Amino acid sequence: MISNAKTFLKNYQEPTLTNYTIMGNCSRCGECCSEFLPLDSKEIEEIEKYIRTHKVKRHNKEKNNFRCPFRNDEKRICEIYKVRPQICKVFKCDTNPEEAFKRRDELSLNRKSRSMSEVFYNDKSKLKIAKSLGLKVHRRGE
Ligand code: SF4
Ligand code: SF4
Repeated sequence: MISNAKTFLKNYQEPTLTNYTIMGNCSRCGECCSEFLPLDSKEIEEIEKYIRTHKVKRHNKEKNNFRCPFRNDEKRICEIYKVRPQICKVFKCDTNPEEAFKRRDELSLNRKSRSMSEVFYNDKSKLKIAKSLGLKVHRRGE
């Protein structure tokens, strides 16, 4: 689990891909659900509309928790599954690691890495931690 800043940084800088699938099928474990994701403005708009309309509850608020705020661990679901970002649609952990990271980098060309908590819940705390760790994460509006 991406549970603290040091572990998160290590995974981010030295990405390795662990296969959490069950026989190639997503186990819904949530290990890939990160606080920092590449997003474009259309995705932000769609998600905002969805969380407003569906009154989506925020998860993973704790300071050193780097899971996405839309990951509901209790129910093992994504609260915004219908409008989840493209990176979440294309990622699966049992693919070839080189391919997976190539896809992530390709997506990042047209998207900026953002703090989900900052963009959708105006919580700048995780953004600050990211900056203190030297991660390039953009503020909303940048
Ligand atoms: S794709 Fe994500 S949720 Fe699915 S098994 Fe892999 S790490 Fe778990
Ligand atoms: S948007 Fe959904 S699928 Fe994507 S990281 Fe967040 S919880 Fe996981």
